[in-house]
Amino acid sequence: HFITFEGIEGCGKTTQIRLLAECLRSRGYRVVTTREPGGCPIADKIRSILLDAENSAMSPLAELMLYSAARAQHVSEVILPALEAGCIVLCDRFTDATIAYQSAGRGIERSTIETLNTLACSSITPELTVLLDCDVQTGLGRARARIEAAHGPREERFELESLEFHQRVRDSYLDLASRQPHRFLKICAGGSVEEVSAIITNQVCTRLAD
Ligand code: C5P
Ligand code: MG
Repeated sequence: HFITFEGIEGCGKTTQIRLLAECLRSRGYRVVTTREPGGCPIADKIRSILLDAENSAMSPLAELMLYSAARAQHVSEVILPALEAGCIVLCDRFTDATIAYQSAGRGIERSTIETLNTLACSSITPELTVLLDCDVQTGLGRARARIEAAHGPREERFELESLEFHQRVRDSYLDLASRQPHRFLKICAGGSVEEVSAIITNQVCTRLAD
């Protein structure tokens, strides 16, 4: 089973993946958690290029290709082998993020994104995508607080983007979810960590039992 988590900055993907993984493991499932961009050493190096605020002049197309390169490595080195071994793979961001950020956010044509997404993931598609939806101010506020707590004041690339950029990303995720209601589980991420986790656990366990 391949399950992805999506949403804007600070919506709680990483926390919720950790909690779902703990819960699934306690029920006897073998679970691999991973993230994009990154998830393996080569893709983590690409991640550090992508997230560095000093690289804010990167062209949108160069950025898209780096995300795709990282994904190709991540799929072949981590995701495919884990799925073949029978594990549940929980991935923090995947192809939908490329549509939301590089197409809706940065304006690259949707067909270009889809071509690269298909190329990079060799037939793998998420069977379930948990979209944690929250308003942009709430999400950005949480993300900034987390970064400050971790490293003191420091800038990441997403902080250089306008509110409108983040709003386009959110709207794009909502649009994707409304067009593919069977794949997406849209959850309001404004609730407490425990409330959101209970909803996700319940829904995912129901689907795994089907
Ligand atoms: O919080 P997370 O680890 O998901 O952060 C990854 C960063 O990469 C985010 O700041 C997000 O803005 C950015 N990103 C992006 N395009 C993607 C995926 C992530 O700009 N396709
Ligand atoms: Mg995160």
